[in-house]
Amino acid sequence: MQPNLLILGGTTEATALAKAVHEAGLRAIISFAGRVERPARQPLQRRIGGFGGVDGLARYLRAEQITHVIDATHPFAAQMSAHAVAACAQTGTALVALTRAPWSPQKGDNWQHVGGMDEALAALDRPARRVMLAVGRMHLDDFAPNPQHFYLLRLVDPPKTPPAFPDHHVLVSRGPFTADADRALMQRFDIDLVVSKNAGGTGAYAKIDAARRLGLPVLMIDRPAIPERAEVFSVAEAMDWIAHAGTLRGV
Ligand code: NAP
Repeated sequence: MQPNLLILGGTTEATALAKAVHEAGLRAIISFAGRVERPARQPLQRRIGGFGGVDGLARYLRAEQITHVIDATHPFAAQMSAHAVAACAQTGTALVALTRAPWSPQKGDNWQHVGGMDEALAALDRPARRVMLAVGRMHLDDFAPNPQHFYLLRLVDPPKTPPAFPDHHVLVSRGPFTADADRALMQRFDIDLVVSKNAGGTGAYAKIDAARRLGLPVLMIDRPAIPERAEVFSVAEAMDWIAHAGTLRGV
């Protein structure tokens, strides 16, 4: 049977995989949650919006006769990833995650690890700092209980409602970012603390590099747990998995 792929997207890796899949002439659709106003251009057919939980995804997989799911969502998109594991198990659909190894501290890094948003919030319950808060639009309001800080926010889309902090500056950009530019940005806004998710990969690393060069502390939010699944770490590996997973049911 010809493969019929579902790529769960929303990352640069998913976009790169979509290009490779298109060039290979494979049948595929890429799915977005619909969080950003202008998702990156895709060569593949796309669908937008949630599936309706595990059962909704399982129904979709059956209705569309999907043979392979490649979960290329962000490492913090834990709910979607857990749903993919459950729905693929329910329907017997082959699943792999195209993901990235987490960052680990290098010489010169000054990281304080926190287990999640709640812990990050608790760690910010302290006298006013000048914070670069790089957690994405969805989590901004979580930080409202600590309004004493100045927050530098970098977002893909302009916020629909003003952030709940009296003292902030919003930059709208989807990158790519460089360590030199991020260092200059941190100096310009006199930043003395960076709050970041441990996203892994290269796309969001510039601020971590810049913080190291400036000797700034980073509050590093560790990744959420995701149920066990097969994982690959490059588009080439994902393409190889697609070529072989019809018989292997995993890697
Ligand atoms: P999440 O909390 O894991 O997912 C919440 C719900 O959104 C899911 O249960 C699902 O709804 C829907 N959803 C998520 N990803 C989807 C996709 N690719 N296609 C269709 N529905 C999807 O996810 P999130 O953290 O809000 O992330 C949403 C999207 O943004 C993902 O595509 C992710 O790759 C991207 N993104 C996230 C982050 C981050 O830090 N979280 C950063 C960069 C990009 P149903 O239950 O109704 O199916």
